[in-house]
Amino acid sequence: VDEVDEIKIIQTSEKRPITIIAVGSGKGGVGKSTLSANLAIALKRAGKNVGMVDADIYGPSQPRLLNMEDEKPKAEDKKLIPVMNDFGIPMLSMGQLAKPGQAIAWRGPMAGNALHQLIDAHWGDTDLLIVDLPPGTGDVQLSMVQKHKPDAALIISTPQDLALIDAARAINFFDAAKVPIIGLVENMAGYLCPHCGEVSDPFGKGGAEAAADKMQLPFLGRIPLDMSIRMASDDGTPPALEDGPIGKGFAAIAHKVTT
Ligand code: ADP
Repeated sequence: VDEVDEIKIIQTSEKRPITIIAVGSGKGGVGKSTLSANLAIALKRAGKNVGMVDADIYGPSQPRLLNMEDEKPKAEDKKLIPVMNDFGIPMLSMGQLAKPGQAIAWRGPMAGNALHQLIDAHWGDTDLLIVDLPPGTGDVQLSMVQKHKPDAALIISTPQDLALIDAARAINFFDAAKVPIIGLVENMAGYLCPHCGEVSDPFGKGGAEAAADKMQLPFLGRIPLDMSIRMASDDGTPPALEDGPIGKGFAAIAHKVTT
């Protein structure tokens, strides 16, 4: 496997009116979509005009997380109009471009094309766009950095060594594309047993913070492994809507993203 040293930028609109923040991970299932949705909510609550692009072709889950299944975007002048949800966050998702339940098996150029449609849309007065990327460093990420270079990227990982090795690959990828990395978020850190009250660490402890230190990246915070996060997410009511410790955790991450 070749290590990527530099990625050529093909085209980035110079005077883009919108700030793009990409959320990436080395692998799937580490909570990237959960973080993206909650980050969007926390930013909205902090008064930002935030929009969401769900670019995860393997598992577009934002429609569910942000409670807007089955809504198809309309188009005007050949550009898509983002769909507004109850949280006031306009959104476009790869899932909206495919038939419900249909597998998205696009080759590179098609995936790049789809991404372009989602980003080059009627975003109106949205000034901050969160892009929930697919896991890893594939075609969509390459299109993203080459044609719609994000202003910054955020990486999420579990504390587990294996996940962190993959996260380091994602970090290397954004470095090679000269996309500034805001920092690393640790998810599924520490599980508080609802029965005995003991905290255990199914995926290890402190790994992401140590990895961030080693890579000289800011550590943005840790999110516990908590059943209420999974349940609230499945219900389309992201926990960042609440003022409890979890909501506050997401608000703190959102604050670091904007400063
Ligand atoms: P990814 O986007 O990285 O594939 P998801 O955000 O879809 O990951 O999360 C994978 C699963 O784990 C989802 O069912 C989600 O609800 C759950 N999950 C994510 N973070 C947490 C957490 N901190 N506590 C409990 N469940 C979580």
